[in-house]
Amino acid sequence: MAKLKLITFGCQANEADSEKIAGVLAQEGFELTEMAEEADLILINTCSIREKAEQKVYSLLGTFQRLKVQNPRMKIGLCGCLAQREGTRLKDRFPYLDLLAGPGAMIYRIPEMLRGSPAPPVLPRPKELLPLYIHSPRPRRESLFKAWVSIMEGCNYLCTFCVVPYTRGPERSRPPEDILAEVEDLLKQGYREITLLGQTVNAYGKNLKPRTRFSDLLRAIDALVGREMRVRFTSSHPRDLTPDLIEAVATLKSICEHVHLPVQAGSDRVLARMRRLYTRQQYLERVGALRRAVPDIALSTDLIVGFPGESEEDFQETLSLLRQVRYDSIFAFKYSARPLTPAATYPDQVSGEAKTERIHTALQLQDDIALEKNRGRVGTIEEVLIEEGPNPKMQSTATGRTRRNQLIHFSQESLVPGDTVSAVIAEGYSHYLKGKIP
Ligand code: SF4
Repeated sequence: MAKLKLITFGCQANEADSEKIAGVLAQEGFELTEMAEEADLILINTCSIREKAEQKVYSLLGTFQRLKVQNPRMKIGLCGCLAQREGTRLKDRFPYLDLLAGPGAMIYRIPEMLRGSPAPPVLPRPKELLPLYIHSPRPRRESLFKAWVSIMEGCNYLCTFCVVPYTRGPERSRPPEDILAEVEDLLKQGYREITLLGQTVNAYGKNLKPRTRFSDLLRAIDALVGREMRVRFTSSHPRDLTPDLIEAVATLKSICEHVHLPVQAGSDRVLARMRRLYTRQQYLERVGALRRAVPDIALSTDLIVGFPGESEEDFQETLSLLRQVRYDSIFAFKYSARPLTPAATYPDQVSGEAKTERIHTALQLQDDIALEKNRGRVGTIEEVLIEEGPNPKMQSTATGRTRRNQLIHFSQESLVPGDTVSAVIAEGYSHYLKGKIP
């Protein structure tokens, strides 16, 4: 069998795409290898959201070029958002590249490209971009009990910092019957948890005829999986956290008590310049409605610090929002100027030093909040899906996630990945819990 070395950067959508790439290429006779030296094909699934990830890709390409000199039959390709954004310019810069393919449905064209018809990585028409899972090979999933299920591609919001609409294109939703068929297949295979994926997952269905709301899809999935599967979804846009969706999260048993709701900033001035299309107050109202419906819901968010023009006062408003919402976890990033995006041209870029200081301050505050919250959970009983076996670094014998998406470590011997258990929270830390089986 031919060997494929697959390297993935970036978001969960890219991880899901990589599983699809592995599935498509398995049908072409490729098996995965960890060793680049023995690979017949090296594919890097790239991300364009932050500059750092791009620099890593370029440095990896240099390493792989040296391997290709030793083994000229080796093929090297780039997939994903960087390939989509830069297109054939990459070929000029790295002439030894054999293959370029954008994200999403471009994956299914990789075999024909390998056979010698290089499709240009331009955005195909939206119709062509609908995921083709039912008629395509199954993704080669990394886990035997947790699965990504892509339900939409692209994004119609045009946040001024974000490159996604230019690389993944406009929003397209996958037909519900197609999604339900994939979920049913996963259920039959014994999967215990699915995560519905989309750039703005809760905007699902706007382009479908007849229109299907995201909450309708959740209801249909819940009716199919009952209590046999946990259902998560990410990422949500605050504008699409509608009353019907909140009701679905509150009433459907399969839907986990966790919502990832990116806020990005706490200052109205910055939110407007980001073109997030909500104010701080509107965001807080949605959070309030969600918490009234599901009082113990876990909330996580994304933050950007050092967006162009962010003053110290603006940043203080972000800190005050963290104190007000008291998230369970956050993902904070320093603003990174991205080609094609309006914010990259804003003249008032924030210095690297200020960004570094602000990110440390935000993360420290969040650590304090999470520590207090997690200590407050000691003694509660939570359902946990065991995901991994022993972790010597954590001195644990097993690790899982609660329905609230919190990482939890155990020190008992008998827990097996894939098991669902009821655990007592024994200790709480900023980034994880420790649990016991009563
Ligand atoms: S909602 Fe904004 S940040 Fe999210 S993918 Fe769309 S443009 Fe990017």
